[in-house]
Amino acid sequence: MKLLWITLALPFFVFASCKQTMVETLPEITVYKNNATYTAVDSGKTNYEITKTDEEWRKELSPEQYQVLRNKGTERPHTGEYDEHFEKGYYICAACSTKLFSSNTKFDAHCGWPSFFAPEDSAAIEYVIDYAHGMVRTEVLCAKCGGHLGHVFDDGPNPTGQRYCINSVSLGFVKEGSAPDSLKNNNGK
Ligand SMILES: [Zn+2]
Repeated sequence: MKLLWITLALPFFVFASCKQTMVETLPEITVYKNNATYTAVDSGKTNYEITKTDEEWRKELSPEQYQVLRNKGTERPHTGEYDEHFEKGYYICAACSTKLFSSNTKFDAHCGWPSFFAPEDSAAIEYVIDYAHGMVRTEVLCAKCGGHLGHVFDDGPNPTGQRYCINSVSLGFVKEGSAPDSLKNNNGK
């Protein structure tokens, strides 16, 4: 926790902001202190319910999925299958099929990645402070398999004010009314 609070004192740069008017440096460092969602689950755990070897993940995932889910890559904006996708249903983890987001919380942030203002179940998501690329961001992972999904920012719409910026390639989609056995991910496997 000590390390976390030290980090909070560092300048916070917004990456991949969708808003043209967003300033680069956010003065609201206290947003973390007031956000129970982030502070409660910054566990950085390494033992997941679904644990596979690197070789197994490579076999099961497409190269693009592996790069994002296991290597924390980012798909190019405006290229993902679910960026402009607004069908009714829910989104699952492409690696382990855990239900992650509902279409009811999806909104068009015009940033090139699927955006949600809340997860379907907060327990399905894990949050880790991410120091990569000289920034301090909040990484979003699947709590069941540890797969990298994207990041969450505090510039989302009501009612949460949060924007979960998620890679399409990390998701699968289940259309409303579909049977549970129709669960699929988008790697075709
Ligand atoms: Zn998963």
